[in-house]
Amino acid sequence: MFRAMTDTIADIRIPLDHLPADGRFGSGPSKVRVEAVRALAETGTTYMGTSHRQATVKDMVARARSGLSQLLGLPDGYEVLLGNGGATAFWDVAGFRLVREHSHHAVFGEFSSKFAQAMEDAPQIRQASTVDAEPGSHPRMTAVDGADVYALTQNETSTGVCMPVARPAGADPDALVLVDATSAAGGMTVDPVEFDAYYLSPQKALASDGGLWLAACSPRALARIDELAARWAPASLDLLIARDNSVKNQTYNTPALATIFLLVQQVEWLLDQGGLAWAESRCRESSGALYTWADAHELASPFVADPAMRSPTVVTIDLDASVDATQVSAVLRANGVVDTDSYRKLGRNQIRIATFPAVTPDDARQLTACLDYVMGLLAG
Ligand SMILES: *Cc1c(COP(=O)(O)O)cnc(C)c1O
Repeated sequence: MFRAMTDTIADIRIPLDHLPADGRFGSGPSKVRVEAVRALAETGTTYMGTSHRQATVKDMVARARSGLSQLLGLPDGYEVLLGNGGATAFWDVAGFRLVREHSHHAVFGEFSSKFAQAMEDAPQIRQASTVDAEPGSHPRMTAVDGADVYALTQNETSTGVCMPVARPAGADPDALVLVDATSAAGGMTVDPVEFDAYYLSPQKALASDGGLWLAACSPRALARIDELAARWAPASLDLLIARDNSVKNQTYNTPALATIFLLVQQVEWLLDQGGLAWAESRCRESSGALYTWADAHELASPFVADPAMRSPTVVTIDLDASVDATQVSAVLRANGVVDTDSYRKLGRNQIRIATFPAVTPDDARQLTACLDYVMGLLAG
């Protein structure tokens, strides 16, 4: 039995047979498969440290673009564009060449609120309106007068809430639907007819590293870029320049070559396994193990009350006040099971666990055994 007087929590040793094979459960940067890192190392002298303007790297960018397009089942006329700066930079990018003057945002957590704030602050945008929901749920997106962009977040990484990707009924037929898919893309199915830009950073559901944004753009989004071409934009955030480079498998300035390589590894692996439907069912198996565990545990409960809004890729679990979630995460970390901490700004007694496709369902089940063990010792 754990004795608070003589032991410190850092001394708790989880029995080896409880531990997952891979202890990375962070929501981003997230687990990169060891096979992908090995494949990168095996390129030796032939890839890293070579020019991004030559065929070796351009071919890798082409594989990333065509692989993503295949994974998402993009219809003819859609293009996968990319540039530097991650999803955060894409919000600013969108503000110059996708939003005419009024964006409307579903806001239900940290990331969805940041895009709304960026448009609120942008002097070239007349109005950024929002429909809000308390963290732990999502709002219903309906059409509003004059909106030329609707901003959805398929999976709010900060709270573990997912929302359907659908064009709001009654929206202006010319309005664009932009979807932040950073922690969903590759782990949740989606119908491309419902979006105009499906954008992401690759260090979350797609198990690569940070630094890039990628966006699957519909013909309507591509036309909007031309329509707004006369507006001033900084070159590094200019979607017109990004598009011209992307279709040539280039970026405007130097990209992270390792990020592109690891992304290709993951996208091609997902395609080999059976594509998005396979990936989503794997994520549902892993997340389901955790939700079922939390439902059954007297000191734990899923944070997201409505099962339909529970994310298959980011699981948030509230703990009873008698167990300190910070301590639980600290003990797990000391045992090599890392990044189960809740989103810092949410301020709840909570753990947050990514069940992206790279995480194995077996490891998710092992994690429940670790949680049982640690909470059994810490509850007091
Ligand atoms: C992490 C995250 C972002 C920000 O990604 P960066 O690569 O840090 O810019 C945006 N949206 C969602 C949903 C995220 O999870």
